[in-house]
Amino acid sequence: MVESTIAAISTALGEGGIAIIRISGPDAVTISTKILTRKNFDIPGKLYLTNLTDNDKNILDRVLAVNFKAPNSYTGEDIVEIHTHGGILIARLCLDLLLKNGAESAQPGEFTRRSFINGRIDLSQAEGVLGIIKSQSIEAIKAGARTLTGELSRKIHEIHDEILNLQSNLEIDLDFPEHENFIEDSNIENEIDIIISKLKNLISQCSAGFLLNNGIKITIAGSPNVGKSSLLNAILGTERAIVTDIPGTTRDIINENILINGLPVRISDTAGLRETENVIEAMGVELAKNSINESDICLYVLDGSIPTSLSFGHLPLKMGDSAAPESGEGSTIIVLNKSDLEQKIDINSLPHDIPKISVSAKNLTGISELKNLIYDMAVKNSKLSSGLNVSAQQLDDLTESLNLIIEAKNSISDDVRADMLNSARINLLKILGIDAGDELLDNMFSRFCVGK
Ligand code: GDP
Repeated sequence: MVESTIAAISTALGEGGIAIIRISGPDAVTISTKILTRKNFDIPGKLYLTNLTDNDKNILDRVLAVNFKAPNSYTGEDIVEIHTHGGILIARLCLDLLLKNGAESAQPGEFTRRSFINGRIDLSQAEGVLGIIKSQSIEAIKAGARTLTGELSRKIHEIHDEILNLQSNLEIDLDFPEHENFIEDSNIENEIDIIISKLKNLISQCSAGFLLNNGIKITIAGSPNVGKSSLLNAILGTERAIVTDIPGTTRDIINENILINGLPVRISDTAGLRETENVIEAMGVELAKNSINESDICLYVLDGSIPTSLSFGHLPLKMGDSAAPESGEGSTIIVLNKSDLEQKIDINSLPHDIPKISVSAKNLTGISELKNLIYDMAVKNSKLSSGLNVSAQQLDDLTESLNLIIEAKNSISDDVRADMLNSARINLLKILGIDAGDELLDNMFSRFCVGK
């Protein structure tokens, strides 16, 4: 149990209907009743109408106050919430009075950190809380809520227990070599296969949740004047980028954030890719190439009204890590623009294994089809509707667990197998925050806002 009592404004700073100031810790009631005219809260969870006063007993606001008794509160400690009117100054004054009367200023995420330390939630659920706060779409909120209510924890516990069971059986066989094997080799492989398949499903749910919160990066690239800036405007539905018919006018990278079918997308318009003597334009081309490398999907724009011969050599293809360029399998979409003009490029003559689409950025034809194609490519086979919210670190830990289990399966020595299973199991526990060190917790909770 933590001894200090912390306070913070839990609502966003700004004018609104109400502001909520939260106090958590052993002295929550003692400290808050010093600045309220009501001196007791008989019923936990009940809102009491009372007055907020300063230290000279001047009434500052008519407020509502509620208390929650440890351990049945968000943090697992005594909590008082004071609901003032939603002015910036009144909320600030209320917090200052609490601090003057003995509360300490809460650090970012400290209420949730205490909730974790007091065993009210595990780390995966804390990530769910963050997911809901940061969500930009309904699907992302649902993923956060599924995680917060414990779906990820339950699945991790289930897989963990299966690994532990298998590990124990293997260890019994290792400890008593003179006895007949407790578990048959074929059974071990079957059980490992079941664990692998469950982990793969879980990773796919978590990847979907990760995608919903973190989105993808798209770069629009192509030669000057093919209509890249026009395409960005068409996708955004606004006149964001400067469109001119002078080649080489987009020299900087323009970044915009949008939702495509609920998926957060950061989209960058780059300088036209061409050999150039102009130093500034050349820098733009360099930036464009870097942006392509860092993006998940590259929209390679061609002007369909001008004959172009296109081969893989010309394409700044954004490939999947393992895909050979020749296969065309990667994440480039060829966008054949200016479909409103007479077409000089036959779409069927373009590399057949790269997705392609004909659009007119000017007339907005084909734009919603392009968005659907981007969405399908980003989401691949993962079902966003069953996403679970995780951090990048938690997703890495899950993947590492899977790799260790696969190694265990491929190993011929039971000794090594048991070791691999043990390491895989420890990785899973890390996701729940079991035995988590201060560094991991600092890292996790610094991503929260003050007051959460
Ligand atoms: P960027 O240099 O690749 O960014 O190209 P811009 O977006 O600046 O467009 C270059 C020229 O092509 C401008 O004159 C645009 O109006 C024109 N343009 C862009 N898209 C289309 C289109 O779909 N149809 C037609 N007819 N013209 C277009």
